[in-house]
Amino acid sequence: MRYRTHPKTGDKVSEIGFGTAYFYEVGMKEGTRILRRAFERGINYFDLATSDIATFAILREALHDVRKDILLQVHFGADYSRDAYGWTLDLEKVKRSVDVQLRKLQTDYIDYGFIHCQDELSDWDIYKNNGVLGYLMELKKSGVVRHIGLSSHTPEVIQKILDDADVDMLMFSINPAYDYHEGAYAIGSVDERSGIYRRCEAENIGITVMKPFSGGQLLNAHSSPFGVALTPYQCMKYALDKPGVLCVLPGIRSVSELDMLLDYENQSEKALDYSVIGDFAPQDASGKCVYCNHCKPCPVGLDIGLINKYYDLAKAGDVLAVEHYKTLEKNAADCIGCGHCDSRCPFKVEQSDRMKEIRAYMESI
Ligand code: SF4
Ligand code: SF4
Repeated sequence: MRYRTHPKTGDKVSEIGFGTAYFYEVGMKEGTRILRRAFERGINYFDLATSDIATFAILREALHDVRKDILLQVHFGADYSRDAYGWTLDLEKVKRSVDVQLRKLQTDYIDYGFIHCQDELSDWDIYKNNGVLGYLMELKKSGVVRHIGLSSHTPEVIQKILDDADVDMLMFSINPAYDYHEGAYAIGSVDERSGIYRRCEAENIGITVMKPFSGGQLLNAHSSPFGVALTPYQCMKYALDKPGVLCVLPGIRSVSELDMLLDYENQSEKALDYSVIGDFAPQDASGKCVYCNHCKPCPVGLDIGLINKYYDLAKAGDVLAVEHYKTLEKNAADCIGCGHCDSRCPFKVEQSDRMKEIRAYMESI
């Protein structure tokens, strides 16, 4: 398992995390077995936006003895007063629900306490006015919550909340369908969505990824909006390539599914190449580098995807990205303008011109 270090909190997060959406359905015995195996194979990050309260007891049973070695995202706004998941902005319900989750998990702290599922600006106003944010911040002050998170599907709302609150982790729905205007949570333009990734990276906010397969839609040629099935590995790589992303959180409900997903770490570059989506890039994505490196090999050995990522981040105000760029062994100044990348890029990026632009920008700052 590979781990990514959260730039602000220092937590080492497994690239593959564990989503528990419908996990409770597997029951206590099988659930314990799956979670234990996940932990033993290196998964240390678990999201608890789950559809039933039964999940918490299964997680406690499986991982109570290793609590200090795992990281839990708990959602302030998920209501389990009727056992099944409900969404609430009511302070008393949030308090009761968080209490019951802590009791069921038999833990006295939460690694990432999340401002839960804010998709409308009006929800955010109510969340603050009802005192839910205040309660979350109180728990942070007292040490029950270590870090603050935010989950949302809506770039506009995310921008507002990041302006208002000191957030350490964002859970966002990232996959090629949503980024290209396809599917239930395809909210925001290509630029608005990539603006979120860049802002998070620039402000040291980690991103955990929900719905990496668009609810399974992308894995089947009949349901894929692109008319071709992607593999889970292509989807995971796509999400993990985005600036700011620390971890993908696929929902897991069996040992075989878990083992299949963990095999991501053994896939070849070819198997992870998701450039096929370039054929379907909408107009507002055309000509924009997605850092996939499908255009490799560059004859002078440039890491074209990485150079482009640093450039985009630098323009978004990320000072560290400029530093990273300057430490590269080879950068845009080494480009010989051969045009190989132009002919290879499925996203219609005129990369040889872009290299000139990157060079000029980086030399000007
Ligand atoms: S130029 Fe095209 S192929 Fe190369 S990294 Fe960017 S998007 Fe991928
Ligand atoms: S144009 Fe520049 S970046 Fe592209 S392949 Fe040639 S040398 Fe590499």
